[in-house]
Amino acid sequence: MSSVLIIGAGGVGRVVAHKCAQIPEVFSQICLASRTQSKCDQIAAEIRQKTGRRIDTAQVDADQVPELVALIQRVKPVMLINVALPYQDLTIMDACLETGVHYLDTANYEPLDEAKFEYKWQWAYQERFEKAGLMALLGSGFDPGVTNVFTAHLMKHHFDQIDTLDILDCNGGDHGYAFATNFNPEINIREVTANGRYWQDGAWVETQPMEIRRKFDFDQVGEKNMYLLYHEEMESLAKHFPGIKRMRFWMTFGDAYLKHLEVFRNIGLDSIEPIEFQGQQIVPIQFLKALLPDPASLGPRTHGKTNIGVIAKGSKNGQPVQRYVYNICDHQECYKETHAQAVSYTTGVPAMIGAMMMLQGHWMKPGVWNMEQFDPDPFMAALNQHGLPWVDLENDIDIDSLPE
Ligand code: NDP
Repeated sequence: MSSVLIIGAGGVGRVVAHKCAQIPEVFSQICLASRTQSKCDQIAAEIRQKTGRRIDTAQVDADQVPELVALIQRVKPVMLINVALPYQDLTIMDACLETGVHYLDTANYEPLDEAKFEYKWQWAYQERFEKAGLMALLGSGFDPGVTNVFTAHLMKHHFDQIDTLDILDCNGGDHGYAFATNFNPEINIREVTANGRYWQDGAWVETQPMEIRRKFDFDQVGEKNMYLLYHEEMESLAKHFPGIKRMRFWMTFGDAYLKHLEVFRNIGLDSIEPIEFQGQQIVPIQFLKALLPDPASLGPRTHGKTNIGVIAKGSKNGQPVQRYVYNICDHQECYKETHAQAVSYTTGVPAMIGAMMMLQGHWMKPGVWNMEQFDPDPFMAALNQHGLPWVDLENDIDIDSLPE
């Protein structure tokens, strides 16, 4: 029986709050706080209607450590689930240290003025969390998150050695807009317009954005173009599984999405450099965000499925092995359950499960940790129970020989 404080009332925060509310025996008290309290109140009202449970709400600016500390001291949670934006990770970790509260997030820290996400800032908290007897679990979403746990599961149950790992993220959903992003547009556009990068023999190999493409036939979604990009879980997986020789991340994009991005890029609308506009400083990508549909509004309009998984090639007892573990999630089913589409759902459910792993003691250890550093079994079992069932199959697909 534990009290949790959730920060961030966007698409992911909505799912985390709904899912925690479904398990009162683990999450006995829930407070949802965000910059805009009315968003929290709306989610609280939905939860009351669905489950009959009351959750508390609050207003907080998570960029301000003193505000966070005051809120934590009032709510007195055992742990904090950070599903605000990556820019708030460090202030929230500081507040957790000051108040003696465990921490979990779904995305690694990224400075607001530099499009560069890395774990180094958060890994630097290792000693402080350990000394305080507190735990911080980093990247407990789907990717990062479940993809790290899938890799740990494969390593534990099927391989002595993984030689190559390919992480495949397909969103086959259609929301009917010419262009919209399924999660925070600023984060999303910064991620996909960056150079690609993959891990090869102990070093990163850089590619141009969207330079490498393959056609892949995704189960229950169909054939899609997927593009190689850099993604944050590869940094921690390369560190914790140093035997993996090559690791790549692929994400699917439709042609219309890419065409819009190209135009935004050509005219500088994706820039994070402030410009002067009618006597005011504005950041182009933040202006663009204001024009785009709110990701939280896509839920009712999005049909289709996501398919996200990991293909590993390697050996066990000297014999070659290749396996594919993946989850398929249906946008409309997610919406019926939590008023959110599958991209928020596939992030929010693992955040709830990560918190449950910590509160139930399966994964409780002082320090700052990534998902693959814990026993994958209880987490994998919980995925099956809480809405993200997976399959683990033998497989012989050779991504390199697929058409471009
Ligand atoms: P949204 O933009 O929909 O929601 C973010 C929420 O954070 C908003 O409600 C916003 O508040 C709140 N917020 C932002 N700044 C502050 C602040 N200073 N103080 C308090 N609250 C603040 O994003 P998503 O819900 O889509 O994503 C949430 C997180 O999940 C992001 O970090 C994202 O990178 C991550 N993510 C991880 C994935 C994974 O698989 N690991 C996949 C998808 C997302 P308000 O609206 O009240 O102003």
